[in-house]
Amino acid sequence: MQVTPNGHEPIISPRVNFADPSGKVNLLGLSREELKDALRDFGVPEKQLRMRATQLWHWVYHRGASDFDLMTTISKDMRAKLKEAFVVERPEIVEAQYSEDGTRKYLIRFADGNEAEAVYIPEEDRGTLCVSSQVGCTLNCKFCHTGTMRLVRNLTAGEIVAQMMIARDDLGEWENPTKGRKVTNIVMMGMGEPLYNFDNVKQALEIIMDEEGIQLSRRRITLSTSGVVPHMERAGKEIGVNLAVSLHAVTDEIRSEIMPINKKYNLDAVLTACANYPGAHNARRITFEYAMLKGINDSDEDARQLVQLMRKYKLPAKVNLIPFNPWPGVEYECSSDERIKRFSDIIYEEGISAPVRRPRGRDIMAACGQLKSASEKKSKAQIARDLAAAAALTEHQHSATGLS
Ligand code: SAH
Ligand code: SF4
Repeated sequence: MQVTPNGHEPIISPRVNFADPSGKVNLLGLSREELKDALRDFGVPEKQLRMRATQLWHWVYHRGASDFDLMTTISKDMRAKLKEAFVVERPEIVEAQYSEDGTRKYLIRFADGNEAEAVYIPEEDRGTLCVSSQVGCTLNCKFCHTGTMRLVRNLTAGEIVAQMMIARDDLGEWENPTKGRKVTNIVMMGMGEPLYNFDNVKQALEIIMDEEGIQLSRRRITLSTSGVVPHMERAGKEIGVNLAVSLHAVTDEIRSEIMPINKKYNLDAVLTACANYPGAHNARRITFEYAMLKGINDSDEDARQLVQLMRKYKLPAKVNLIPFNPWPGVEYECSSDERIKRFSDIIYEEGISAPVRRPRGRDIMAACGQLKSASEKKSKAQIARDLAAAAALTEHQHSATGLS
């Protein structure tokens, strides 16, 4: 059985940074070890390596500097030399769109011309950055816009970290690096399947969590997977972030229909992997994402079955109900507000939290499952039709993202 259209699984891409056109090495995305190696190759003496790497790390990740001249704790001579060999460069922002509700969407173009999107979502008590792990996605879930993209490649660690740097640049967050944070949380919920790009995602998150740099706590990072069973345990052990799993159906029949990966890793395999997820306990529950698709997965019976599955596998769970976000050409509709409320109530009554995720940034097509890069964008008329459809869906009373 072929899960991906081109048979690649997982897709492999080298763990290198995007090449700078000048041939200089981009420091963004290098691990501490790689940074030391780069400095050693450049001729920094062995006994200075640690000190130089720490200095650069501080400037790049704690202060957000991309110009060596700003790195005033490094001597002028040294800065001049570093400039000959290195750059600290973000990829290009092709478009930054600001929604009426404060959501910001960045369309980012990498050195090879490929594009991906990142979305910043401000809320009362937090600011969440939704980060992409791939250009496109090989998994073709039928309800997801990203899954229809023709181009797919893994993002490098540098390209993943760059999404955070770009958001912090745009939000003016470097002046006061630890106090008054704007990006307080990260969700690996943008384009792509993060567990098919394990090494790069791991390296990028390690950089983002590093105590001498951006210092984001692992408790504030959530990785979402469609259920790539062989890598789930590794994610818990090696990265240690919160886990979210795209469930979307409670029978293998429906799940395989809407998420082809279920033919490879079925519900039993996914839920067993969840039960074994390192660190899963009541204080850090696993989030199950469930997109509400009219007439497909939204009956009372589905809700009851969902509760039973959580019990059967003894899962410390919370359920995130996502009103389905439409996009041009999709065959599904969102369940009605009443249906979503009833579904949510059934789960709540059984003692499992099931908030409805409030759609954000719909006016700029920034909501879950709507990301698709500009090279494949739709017509203005279609955008108007989408907006009308989105407006018809009023917000649900249990609105909350539920992700922490
Ligand atoms: N590939 C990962 C990360 C994407 S996360 C994963 O699938 O888990 C984004 C979440 O939005 C996932 O739960 C995804 O299944 C869901 N989603 C995708 N398309 C959607 C849509 N059109 N409406 C609502 N949710 C959608
Ligand atoms: Fe890929 Fe996730 Fe979209 Fe499925 S829902 S196609 S796994 S990005």
